[in-house]
Amino acid sequence: MRRYVFIDFDGVLNTERHHSELVSLGQKCSDQYGPLFDPVAVENLKMIVDETEAGIVIISSWKLEGIDRMMDLWKARRMPGVLAGCTPDYISGMDLLNVNLEDPAAFANLAGKGNEVKQWLKENAPKKADGYRYVILDDVPDFLPEQEEHYIQVDPRVGITEEDAEKAIEKLNKL
Ligand SMILES: [Mg+2]
Repeated sequence: MRRYVFIDFDGVLNTERHHSELVSLGQKCSDQYGPLFDPVAVENLKMIVDETEAGIVIISSWKLEGIDRMMDLWKARRMPGVLAGCTPDYISGMDLLNVNLEDPAAFANLAGKGNEVKQWLKENAPKKADGYRYVILDDVPDFLPEQEEHYIQVDPRVGITEEDAEKAIEKLNKL
C-alpha cells in the first residue's frame, strides 16, 4: 500500500503565528528558499510521515521553482519524509480533448489544484484503486468532490496541528 501526503506550503508549513513571532523577536523571516516554516507545523508533518511512511507530493506554487530546488530545500531545512514529487501544472491532452468548451462548468476541469492532484495520481500511483491512500493538506479548499474525503483543511494562522496530523494518520492507516 502506497501512501501520499499532498501538501501546500503557505498557510500549512509557514504560518501567520510563526511569522509574527519572528517579526516580534526581530529575527529573519525567510531564507534563500522563501518564508521559513513553522517548527510546530513541521513537527506535526513529521508525526504523519513517521506513523505512515507516506511520500510527500508538493502542491504549493513553490513547486514552480522545480523539483531539484524543492529537493534542496527539503535537505537544507532538514524536512521530514521523502519527496515523491510535485503535482504537474497541466491536465492530460486526452482530458483536454474531452472538455466541452460550450459548457461553462467544463472550464472548472481545466484548472485547479484538484485536477493537478488527480493528474499526478493518474501518472504516478499504482493502478489498482486499493493500491494507495492519500491525504491533501491545504488551507484553501480548491479540490474535487471525489477528493473531499481525502482533504484536511488547515488553519493558515497555525498550520498543521496535532489534530490535523491525527486525522491524516487515521485516513492513511485505516483498514
Ligand atoms: Mg496555502
